[in-house]
Amino acid sequence: MVHEVSNARQLPPVEFVALPSALNRVLAEDLRADRDFPALDRSVRDGFAVTAAEHPRTLRVAGEVRAGGVYEGVLPPDAAIEIMTGAPMPHGAEAVVMVEHVTRRDNVIDVPAAAAGQFISRRGEEARQGQVLIQTGQPLYFGSVAVLAAAGRTMVPVYRQPRVAILATGDELVPVEATPLPHQIRNSNAHALAAQVLRAGGVPEILDIAHDTLEHTAALIERGLQADLLLLSGGVSAGKYDVVEPALAAHGAHFFFDRVAIQPGQPLVFGRARGTFFFGLPGNPNSTLVTFEMFARAALELLGGRSDVALPWLTAELAEPFQHKPGLTRFLPARVTEGRLHPVRSKGSGDLPALARANAWMMVDAARAQWAAGDHMPVILL
Ligand code: AMP
Ligand code: MG
Repeated sequence: MVHEVSNARQLPPVEFVALPSALNRVLAEDLRADRDFPALDRSVRDGFAVTAAEHPRTLRVAGEVRAGGVYEGVLPPDAAIEIMTGAPMPHGAEAVVMVEHVTRRDNVIDVPAAAAGQFISRRGEEARQGQVLIQTGQPLYFGSVAVLAAAGRTMVPVYRQPRVAILATGDELVPVEATPLPHQIRNSNAHALAAQVLRAGGVPEILDIAHDTLEHTAALIERGLQADLLLLSGGVSAGKYDVVEPALAAHGAHFFFDRVAIQPGQPLVFGRARGTFFFGLPGNPNSTLVTFEMFARAALELLGGRSDVALPWLTAELAEPFQHKPGLTRFLPARVTEGRLHPVRSKGSGDLPALARANAWMMVDAARAQWAAGDHMPVILL
């Protein structure tokens, strides 16, 4: 799937956004250091700039240099310059001794031995001028904003966000603001997907609910295919009224796969029609959420210009024994607290309240049946 999208994608157009709004956007041009980092040798401690020496000494304090200042001249013999964190090293000084390690009487200090280079951050030791600090295709987090600011970027080149059409199908669905009759349910999937799309860097557009007829579903797909990516929910199982696949086929869709060996989420459909990739996500709420994160998210991030779309798996230690029926890889709601993994009791892939108690999914190995408390399992934080 990643292969199909990577091969077919054209990188999105570039736009410029003001620095703080660059958060969570994808960088569209390598950020290079505009000067050496740091730009000169500087002290990383409050203390005294001295020459290197193997033995303790007594030195005269010949001056001071503070952060934002410069010591003009050269360190005189048998002398030290009082220096603050971040201040440039005076010429001739080879080390910094920490103020805490010095005894001072008026203008005279007793200093311990000082190794050459100690407590000095050397010019260019973090990055050289012109070196790439953040690569094209990286999503920007608050740390990247600090780096962009330090390198003098006020307007940041980022990729345009992909537009993602969301099409929920099902005659049982009503809009969230409506009061459902007992045989109806609210269209929660469309909103959950919109939230997932936002987090993955897309701009969601929720379409009208599609009735379970070929004509109505095909008509809404027509609109959805105008977006950069189309997400459908429901209507991809084997039921008599599951019309999503024939409706897509009516638009000349090419299907890459229509089944995956995971639970929830087996009847997952991935394909392309009129140049637009689409996912037919199974309608059960947990299936929809899981299949989006495990498959559609990577496709969306690639379409948004990201270069690395690996899932951020962690491992956590089971707080209690666990067992399942082997055969399918399962993604089950769980709670991770202080590194300990607690499975969340769930009545199955339609159990939304269980999801409200979860902050992670645990990935349960298809080839294994039993785990003891203290065993480790892969988890993904939500
Ligand atoms: P389907 O995949 O169309 O067979 O749907 C499976 C089940 O998922 C349905 O019976 C509904 O209970 C539920 N479902 C389908 N679509 C939605 C939706 N948009 N929001 C919430 N639940 C849904
Ligand atoms: Mg349905």
